[in-house]
Formats: sequence, C-alpha cells, structure tokens
Amino acid sequence: MSSEELYQELIIDHYKNPRSYGVLDTPDAECSLLNPLCGDEITVTMSADGKAIESIRFSGKGCSISQASASMMTELCRGRSCEEALERLNLFSKMMKKEITEKELEELGDAAALQGVAKFAARIKCAMLPWDALAQCIKKVHQKVSP
Ligand code: ZN
Repeated sequence: MSSEELYQELIIDHYKNPRSYGVLDTPDAECSLLNPLCGDEITVTMSADGKAIESIRFSGKGCSISQASASMMTELCRGRSCEEALERLNLFSKMMKKEITEKELEELGDAAALQGVAKFAARIKCAMLPWDALAQCIKKVHQKVSP
C-alpha cells in the first residue's frame, strides 16, 4: 500500500468512526464555525482550566476532510496544555502551506494524513475549520481566566 493510500484509509476511518464525537454538557468554551464554500459545519466544545484541555469534543457535518480533521484534532489536543494545542495548530497550518518539515510532521500523528489537502486550495478551508474552532475556544478559555 502506498503512503497516499494509507493516508486515504486513515481519513476515511476518522470520518466513519469519529473520535470524541458529541457535545460536552458543561463546556468552558464552545465554538461553531461554518465553511459555506463546502457546506461544512463544526462545533467544538472544550473544558479547560486555563492551562490544560481536560476534554474536547466535536460535532458537525460536512465533507470527509472537515470531519476527519476534527476527529484528528481532538485526539491531538486532549490532555494537552493550551500552548501545546496552539503549537499543533501552528504545525497543521504550516502543513497546509507546505512549509512543514518531516520531523514536525511526526508530531501531527494521524493528522499528517491530511498533508495531501495542501495541494487543493479549495479544500484547505475544510481541513482548517476545526482548528480555527479550537483556536476560538482557547481564546474564550483565556478570556475567562484573565478578564
Ligand atoms: Zn469540506
């Protein structure tokens, strides 16, 4: 199996069996975003104490790229500090700009499977949507802690 096929399988797996799917009952932050170009919807809920992301879930609908990216994002960020989550967001966005190094790619785990999306300008927004929602959630958490 080529790496491209392997990546494709990973994307389909996350799409069909999304990790951390749902909505938290009492989240510290919540953000819903739309990608009108493709019709993707993502809602991210997060509980965090200002330093670490204790739990994170997503719900939504849309193309396989947006939903798989959301599933991968929750896996990468749960239990991490907000700073670590933002670092991964930065790496993911570097991957979408084709500026990522091989070593950095390893830190993205399953999300590295989305590197091929960088070739399709119209799909980058799909892949970034859950990460943009994550960034908004972290912002809200920080505003709560230090108004
Ligand atoms: Zn999409």
